[in-house]
Amino acid sequence: MAIDPVCKMTVDEKQAAATAVYQGVTYYFCAVGCKRAFEQSPEKYLSK
Ligand SMILES: [Zn+2]
Repeated sequence: MAIDPVCKMTVDEKQAAATAVYQGVTYYFCAVGCKRAFEQSPEKYLSK
């Protein structure tokens, strides 16, 4: 399972609604809206 970096939900890689590759890493999203939010400001969601 992967973690949606936007909403922190667990996402099954095979059933992800959307994916994005950022700096060589693939991220999985529960919904297209989460992917859009991520792409607008990825650093915001990846900062720990
Ligand atoms: Zn999400």
